Amino acid sequence: MYIGAHVSTAGGLKTAIEGGKDIGAEALQIFPSAPLQWKIRGWDDKQCIWFKEEWPKHFKQVIFHGIYLTNLAGSDEANVIKTKTALVETLRLASKVGIVGTIFHPGSYTNGEFGNQNQVKEVISEVLAETPSETMLIYENSAGSTIGGKLEDLAWLVNASSDKSRVGVCLDTCHAFAAGYDIRSKEGYEEYVEKVESLIGLDKVFCWHFNDSKFDLGAKRDRHENIGEGYLGAEPFGFILNDPRWTRLSSYLEVPGFEDKGPDQKNVEILRKLRKS
Ligand SMILES: [Zn+2]
Repeated sequence: MYIGAHVSTAGGLKTAIEGGKDIGAEALQIFPSAPLQWKIRGWDDKQCIWFKEEWPKHFKQVIFHGIYLTNLAGSDEANVIKTKTALVETLRLASKVGIVGTIFHPGSYTNGEFGNQNQVKEVISEVLAETPSETMLIYENSAGSTIGGKLEDLAWLVNASSDKSRVGVCLDTCHAFAAGYDIRSKEGYEEYVEKVESLIGLDKVFCWHFNDSKFDLGAKRDRHENIGEGYLGAEPFGFILNDPRWTRLSSYLEVPGFEDKGPDQKNVEILRKLRKS
């Protein structure tokens, strides 16, 4: 398995590559745009062409993390259209910079239920129809208060997608734990993976997000902690890193960092020590 990290693109794509190399990351996750704005800004053609050539020299994989505003299941029509546009623009940009696609948060529950399912299905199918066929949508599990808290939600999303070969899931350790899946022990972890296998299929797992949790099991709080410093502890990351079922998949750190500047070398090193080969 590869150890990757979310890095900032605040200084442009070159800074992102340097930031990833500096901390020893083997894969990179970046935002396509400011995550709290609807407009997908991306980068000019020159930067995109340069990046497409350059990133494979340093990393096994680069992936986008979509903006935070998207919501496939929202009731506000204007926002549904904006969601679709943002996802389409993100996947077109992914194709331009030579990366697979985008991880994103599927959306919110309505009164605790996964509602507006026909709309969700329609938006996914429209996004896939309007974007390059080599790009993918990756649904991320949630901490429990939005769609993706239950593995069943992710299974539904994968099955509802018009082209299953263009979708996958991202499993975030902090979110899984916050949503009530106790992966702290080997038995708990195995049970979780069995559920993933029977509900979604192991081949649909595209990547992992590696984060410890600031809150305890089932707290439904999406608050990431540095590896080994939270309620999960370091051990579960060893289970995942050394599990042959995830060989060649990338993991991405989204931790606060020991100096509060985001994923850092120390977190990467902790994971590297846990990885046996
Ligand atoms: Zn995550």
